[in-house]
Amino acid sequence: MTTIGHFRESLRAAGAKPGHAQRVLRLWAQALPQDSGRRDIDDFLPKTLRAALPGIEAELSGLARIASRHPGQDGSMRLLVQLADGQTCESVLLPRDGLCVSSQIGCAVGCRFCMTGKDGLLRQVGSAEIVAQVALARTLRPVKKVVFMGMGEPAHNLANVMEAIELLGTVGNIGHKNLVFSTVGDERVFERLPQGPVKPALALSLHTTRADLRAELLPRAPRISPDDLVEAGDAYARATGYPMQVQWTLLEGVNDTAEEVAGIVRLLKGRRAVLNMIPYNTVPDLPFRRPAWEKAVALARELHGKGVLTKLRDSAGQDVDAGCGQLRARSLPRSAG
Ligand code: SF4
Repeated sequence: MTTIGHFRESLRAAGAKPGHAQRVLRLWAQALPQDSGRRDIDDFLPKTLRAALPGIEAELSGLARIASRHPGQDGSMRLLVQLADGQTCESVLLPRDGLCVSSQIGCAVGCRFCMTGKDGLLRQVGSAEIVAQVALARTLRPVKKVVFMGMGEPAHNLANVMEAIELLGTVGNIGHKNLVFSTVGDERVFERLPQGPVKPALALSLHTTRADLRAELLPRAPRISPDDLVEAGDAYARATGYPMQVQWTLLEGVNDTAEEVAGIVRLLKGRRAVLNMIPYNTVPDLPFRRPAWEKAVALARELHGKGVLTKLRDSAGQDVDAGCGQLRARSLPRSAG
């Protein structure tokens, strides 16, 4: 696991002033040529730094490589990304210049409907490896929005995710509200997010308004009630001025019921929130089903009519390999997906 702190330290040890280090990290995070404009300033850099730079830049560009690409019909492209130790994670280029990045290899939350959670947590993705996913994606197309909704629970790798967010929101050329921290809910998130110099937007993976069902579906998520979770998210949304995003993976016969509609209206009506409803992508090994599109449309309309801003989304990359973790699972020799 490699962090941005590690590179700052290498640069500092080579004689870089903070401004030099920021410049090197800016060129890397924005995938600009490492020699852009350098000739003008090279003469002013300490000799030791000039000597060390090629090695540091090679280490930065060696953090991640694209193992395979899987374009979807909707303009998205799933990328299987190989990290320097051979581990793989997934990034998804989304339509309209978005990128979904992974923050962990595997995940300890173990959501019943998710392939990533099946094997538990394998390792954290370092802050530099998170930014490397952005830099890599930028070699293919512009990236103006980064969502932390790929493999892993960002709250379980908070220091690395916040370090990556800080870099992306300062020298990485991503607007703060276009950095979206997604979580199943963890009180450390609500303490930490308001403190950083870059405050990302927040997305809560709610999936149900019933505490008992949530404990079943997300077995190792913190036991914070849906009501308290929405309350905490709303407080952060009011503090930042960005609307709270609420993620809802729609599972046939599980959370598409009249009871849930009533629960959603009770929790979200009147709040500055957007409900993102994403019909589940059926996975052969898992016991959940995708509801009919017409049913999802009807639900979204009903919620809208009852005062909840609802966006029905088809998950990006649906036609290439369904949801997060499946590309990686398929690439492994003992493939589960
Ligand atoms: Fe982890 Fe997200 Fe999968 Fe749940 S859905 S197991 S939080 S990666």
